Amino acid sequence: MPISFEEIKELKFKGTQVAYAVVCPRKLWLFSKGISLESTSDRVALGKFLDETSFKGTKGYSDERVSIDFLTVEDGLVVHEVKLSNSLEEAHELQIKYYIYYLRSHGANANYGLLHYPRHRKIKKVQLTSEDEKNMDQILCYIDSIIKSPKPPPVIEKPYCKECAYYHLCYG
Ligand code: SF4
Repeated sequence: MPISFEEIKELKFKGTQVAYAVVCPRKLWLFSKGISLESTSDRVALGKFLDETSFKGTKGYSDERVSIDFLTVEDGLVVHEVKLSNSLEEAHELQIKYYIYYLRSHGANANYGLLHYPRHRKIKKVQLTSEDEKNMDQILCYIDSIIKSPKPPPVIEKPYCKECAYYHLCYG
C-alpha cells in the first residue's frame, strides 16, 4: 500500500539515501540496513579540499537527515553542495533537490541550490519545481519500498560499480 505524504514527511530519509535511489537500489538497501563500507576518506578529502580553497570558512548545516555543505541567502536560502567529481551528477542534483524539499517542508524559505564542481570549474544551478516536488514524493515512496524489501536488490553491473564501496561485497 502506498504511503501518504504525511507519512513521507515523517520518514527519516537521509540525503545520501535519496542520492543512492538513482545510483543503485542495492546500494540504497545495504546503506539503509547499516551495512556501511563507505570509507571516510572521501569526506576527509572533501573537508581538506574545502579548507584549502575559497570555500574555507563556509558554514554547513546538518541534522539526523541532511548534511548541507553550506547555505547563503538570496531571496531565501541557497543550498550549496560541493562535489569533487561530476560522475554522478543526476544523483547530486536529486540530493540537492531533496535538501530544498526538506527545508521547505520544515517551513524554511529555500530558494534554489548550487552544485559546485570546483575541479571541473563548473557550477550548476538547481531549482525544485512543483513537478520535482511531485516526483520527490514518488522517489521517497520508492526508497521506502526498497528499504522494506527483505532481500537486497540484485547487482546492477554498471561501470561505476568498480568505484563503489560495496564492490567486493557485490562481486567478491
Ligand atoms: S557495487 Fe554496483 S551493484 Fe553493488 S552496491 Fe555498488 S553500485 Fe550497486
